[in-house]
Amino acid sequence: MINTLENRITEVKKEAEKESAEINDVRTLESFRIRFLGDKSFLITEQKNIKNITKEERPVYGKLLNDLKEYVQKIYDDKKFGVEAREVEKELAQSNIDVTLPGLPVETGHEHPISTVTREIVDIFYGMGFTAVEGPEVETDFYNFTALNTPPDHPARDEQDTFYTNVAPHVLLRSHTSTVQIRAMEKTRPPLRVLAHGRVYRNEEINARKMPFFHQLEILAVEKELTFGNMKWVLNEFIRRFFGKEIKTRFRPDFFPFTEPSAELDAECPFCDGKGCTTCGNRGWLELLGCGMVDPNVLKAVNINPDEWIGFAAGLGLERFTMLKYRIPDIRYFFTGDLRFLKQF
Ligand SMILES: [Zn+2]
Repeated sequence: MINTLENRITEVKKEAEKESAEINDVRTLESFRIRFLGDKSFLITEQKNIKNITKEERPVYGKLLNDLKEYVQKIYDDKKFGVEAREVEKELAQSNIDVTLPGLPVETGHEHPISTVTREIVDIFYGMGFTAVEGPEVETDFYNFTALNTPPDHPARDEQDTFYTNVAPHVLLRSHTSTVQIRAMEKTRPPLRVLAHGRVYRNEEINARKMPFFHQLEILAVEKELTFGNMKWVLNEFIRRFFGKEIKTRFRPDFFPFTEPSAELDAECPFCDGKGCTTCGNRGWLELLGCGMVDPNVLKAVNINPDEWIGFAAGLGLERFTMLKYRIPDIRYFFTGDLRFLKQF
């Protein structure tokens, strides 16, 4: 049985090969299909016949027929592709369409400038061993304030500064990404070097420099031995890599509840080299970020022994860095979705 079938299949393959040479239009293509793949073709007739084959021979029989089917189907598909292409050519030749004219440009989207700058900054800190962690935008006052050593009467807790939700009195929209520091330290015991970025919310009036929401990026390092000098090195190195040149910086004393001592980092304006220009408001210096050594109370809030561990943290506004990088004068441009603005990047 099998031998007969094998011989017959070889013949059918030869016939199909021979007949395929004749295919040159829709009509000859269709008659090929009917003859080799149609209901009355050898292939389909034999497939229907398989139930009359002995159980032992059936698998071999089935496989031989499948091989034949693949063989003929491939010839058919290849020929069909050629025939269809010729049909289109014929149609085009008869119509008034000039296919040699260049096509209309397709509009594609691209990365938002804030995303581009975020990626650049993240890459720089990755290079210094910081890994990204995430946290929710809807937070509790514990993560946003209490664990960050912010006293109950601190003005930042006021509704005039922070958006509270109506879910519960202590549920709010995070006002900084420092919340993620707390969550990271709860999850991972030190030593750790983490980075968090994302959207934050503050009850601000909208103007050229302020929006009720913006993006922050924070770094936090907790190790056995860390100094203010280590932090200065990390931040100076970051500024140098971000602006692509050596830039003079200075650390001015400042106050944040969650760091002690705290500082504000200024950089000599890279656009006028300190001479004064519109970007730096003729001051020659740019305020870039806040930083400091993690307050022992913050470590205590997450059960890390401050006698054993020490940390530093720094936070920056991503809009601020994007505005500096591209010399954008108004923060509102980022959020209006105006294509005339976005297409410049
Ligand atoms: Zn300047």
